[in-house]
Amino acid sequence: MSSSDLNLPQLEQILHDFWATAPSNSLHLETAEKAWDEPLLAVAAGDDPLFAQVKAAIGPFYWTPAEAFALAFPDQPASPAELRVISYALPQTQATRAQQRGERDLPAERWARSRYFGEQFNCDLRLHLAARLTEQGFPAVAPERLPGFDYRQSEQLGIASNWSERHTAFIAGLGTFGLSDGLITRRGKAVRFGSVVAKIDLPVTPRPYAEDHHAWCLWYAKGICGACVQRCPTGAITTRDGHDKNACRRYIREVTAPFTTKQYGTGATPCGLCQVRIPCEMQVPQALLSQS
Ligand code: SF4
Ligand code: SF4
Repeated sequence: MSSSDLNLPQLEQILHDFWATAPSNSLHLETAEKAWDEPLLAVAAGDDPLFAQVKAAIGPFYWTPAEAFALAFPDQPASPAELRVISYALPQTQATRAQQRGERDLPAERWARSRYFGEQFNCDLRLHLAARLTEQGFPAVAPERLPGFDYRQSEQLGIASNWSERHTAFIAGLGTFGLSDGLITRRGKAVRFGSVVAKIDLPVTPRPYAEDHHAWCLWYAKGICGACVQRCPTGAITTRDGHDKNACRRYIREVTAPFTTKQYGTGATPCGLCQVRIPCEMQVPQALLSQS
């Protein structure tokens, strides 16, 4: 493949092949189940004004795509318009969602494994995509994998990272935010995200919900549902205030993470009880999808 002919189907093939064959896409169970279902992919323009809006909302420490790219390639300047942000969603498997649906206070084993082993695969996938693009002549970086990636205190939003996979996925057209802050995609909210910024000319994915960042949540769109409120064991979601990040983090740090570490030998910070047994678990709620 020459450096001028990488198109969207070929990019999707790179993503698919790694998802299908990488040994790290595994829950590390005797059943040899994959950690994730097949990914969804979307592409945002590097100069989409929403990136600057997200930065303004989160704080000056937040990276735009051009800033993340410049950190990785200081000697290869690129204008925001020359960049594309490739964003993907990794859906939880049917078996993982089914097991998690049966839990009320603590994450199921498969969920804990997907959060731990599945995120390791996600890190591999970010780096793989960036490496494949770069070696084909399209310099690319996974911002979440940059040494400077970390979490800071946002004046308006509390603890926030300097690159948000969920906000990136929203801008790329993969989904919109729900009452619990999770992103509702066409494969639902039980997903994780990754992204890569590349100097490449790819078609930008149309955003089916324009700029309405709550379009696919029943609560925001129609004032009904609130099922995720009932699913949170610590009251960290309310219809009045949405998602209380501090209460959520506290529950995960103090309860779910120690439990899964002891019970399943997995690390990381799993919970996700609010991502299943809800109308947006595995799809955009039907009533809203038909409007988009
Ligand atoms: S469960 Fe209902 S209220 Fe909660 S995010 Fe999904 S659609 Fe919105
Ligand atoms: S991740 Fe867990 S603690 Fe946080 S809001 Fe969802 S259910 Fe509640």
